[in-house]
Amino acid sequence: MGALRDRFWERPLADLDTAEWEALCDGCGRCCLHKVEYEDTGEIEHTNVACRLLDTQTARCMDYKHRKAFVPDCLRLTLRIVDDVSWLPGTCAYRLRAEGRPLPHWHYLISGDREAVVGAGVSVAGRVVSEDEAGPLEHHVVDWDDDYDDYDDEPAQGDAAA
Ligand code: SF4
Repeated sequence: MGALRDRFWERPLADLDTAEWEALCDGCGRCCLHKVEYEDTGEIEHTNVACRLLDTQTARCMDYKHRKAFVPDCLRLTLRIVDDVSWLPGTCAYRLRAEGRPLPHWHYLISGDREAVVGAGVSVAGRVVSEDEAGPLEHHVVDWDDDYDDYDDEPAQGDAAA
């Protein structure tokens, strides 16, 4: 990975290099869950069923580098399509920055803590089942309640580290 510029996450998405783009991901794992799309209405519902490559306990891809070889339809989020992926959670760093919004306080680039995404209730770690074990997706429809504003309460000033 190349050197990351100071506070690169405050720059427009179009200004980020490949390493910075990759580093923007908060690791929540929500984009690695299957969705149910209804043909007649086009409506999309979310599930708690994870791609088989997702480690369900850590919400990390078990082979990110080679994931396309195992999961050909794995979405590769790019600048060109970020505005078109309607099902990205409201907390997704790419979605937020595409909308010109700041990263939330729990994002590891702000907090310095990779696990803060779990503490904030945003990560799917420990909350999903692998597609290899799940059975019919329709039995796993869930509402992830992913409104950004629900997850952006700043810690009270007295809680901040000195
Ligand atoms: S939803 Fe966005 S921030 Fe979360 S893992 Fe996917 S790309 Fe990363």
